[in-house]
Amino acid sequence: MSYYLILMLKPICIVCGTTGAGKSDLAVQLAKKFGTEVINADSMQVYRGFDTITNKISHEEQENVTHHLMSFLNYDQEYSVPNFEKDARRIIDGLHAQGKVPILVGGTNYYLQSLLFEDSTLSSIDPPLSHKVKHPDEGILNDENADLMFPYLQKVDPLMAERWHPRDVRKIRRSLEIYFHTGKRPSDIYKEQSSIKKSKLKYKTLLFWANAENDVLMPRLDTRVDKMLHQGLMNEIQSMKSVINENGFTPDLTRGIWQCIGFKEFEPWFQNSSQETFQACLDKMKISTKQYAKYQKKWILNRLLPLCVSEQKLRPSSILFSVANTTNLQKWHEQVERSCNVFSCFFNNQKLPPMTEEEQGVLEKVKKTLLTQDKDTFSTKFTCDVCLDKTGHPFVAIGEDAWQTHLQSRKHKMTVRRMKERATRQERIEAAKKAAMERRKETA
Ligand SMILES: [Zn+2]
Repeated sequence: MSYYLILMLKPICIVCGTTGAGKSDLAVQLAKKFGTEVINADSMQVYRGFDTITNKISHEEQENVTHHLMSFLNYDQEYSVPNFEKDARRIIDGLHAQGKVPILVGGTNYYLQSLLFEDSTLSSIDPPLSHKVKHPDEGILNDENADLMFPYLQKVDPLMAERWHPRDVRKIRRSLEIYFHTGKRPSDIYKEQSSIKKSKLKYKTLLFWANAENDVLMPRLDTRVDKMLHQGLMNEIQSMKSVINENGFTPDLTRGIWQCIGFKEFEPWFQNSSQETFQACLDKMKISTKQYAKYQKKWILNRLLPLCVSEQKLRPSSILFSVANTTNLQKWHEQVERSCNVFSCFFNNQKLPPMTEEEQGVLEKVKKTLLTQDKDTFSTKFTCDVCLDKTGHPFVAIGEDAWQTHLQSRKHKMTVRRMKERATRQERIEAAKKAAMERRKETA
């Protein structure tokens, strides 16, 4: 990509973070300061109604900042990544036309990821199967447990076979498909692809991570659920239940608004409305909220930030992450001020304020993650001398980590011990046999 095109990337600001970390507030403050608008990136807050259970920012808290993609969808409609991308892009384009920097805020990290990076949700190794070369051996792809496919792949592309577990039917088949359809060895294609590190960044991106330490965040989340009770959580859950009863359907709790934390947790209470059940459901909701926050944090640290940091190597001035620490709410104003300063410097191409200690720590952690991710991509295969897998073949571990785990496992240690015992027994038998032979020789 030429320098000219790098300059052409349009600006976007992201505020990510776990639930309860203060990201909505930060987004409002930034939007006010820089005269722009907010786009919601939370898959539950797109639904109309259910404001408490989905943790929407209140009208007052919005402080007259326009919030897009919030409360516009009916409960019976589904929303997905492509829907979000299309809708968000339309609004982003509109804001760019007005010279504004769009601010996206939300906890649905895969929405943000797919908006920022080209094919970030696809596997980088799979080349497109465009030119179809018909191959006479293609029938082998019907082989169900790779008994034929694996030796075939070993023959045509030993390097690729070395990467897969001999029972990993899906990956072996995919490698052979690539071989049959392109006429090239998949390992060669892969080498070509990984030697060209291409930027996947779609916007000049500033990403804020609103983060609070777990020992403060977790109790804060409990308090938040209690606060939701006072704000009418139970009324909302009741009305969700009424919607179901009136329309006579069974909701799929893994789709749409029915996945929101709180609804499924209170299901037992509809069967038994005792005080104990209520308390148990409330506790369950608090646990789910905390689990979700941990999951969000992991996603940010293991996926979103690594993508950010590896893009930074390719285009240092086009992407930046910054941590807004919300552990101590007394220092909230300082955090907002610093974030505004970072925003202004980054988008005006001025010298950035120095990284905080926390940001340096995060950067080190992310770099380590990137190293292990790289290592996994080029992982070695280990075959255990003593253990067998379920199908009776020698046990195979892919990658150093999996191999170490196997060596430490109870199963492996027991097998080794059993083998040793068997060997000792065998030795004793041999020794006894030998002794008997000697004795027989002596008597003879
Ligand atoms: Zn073993």
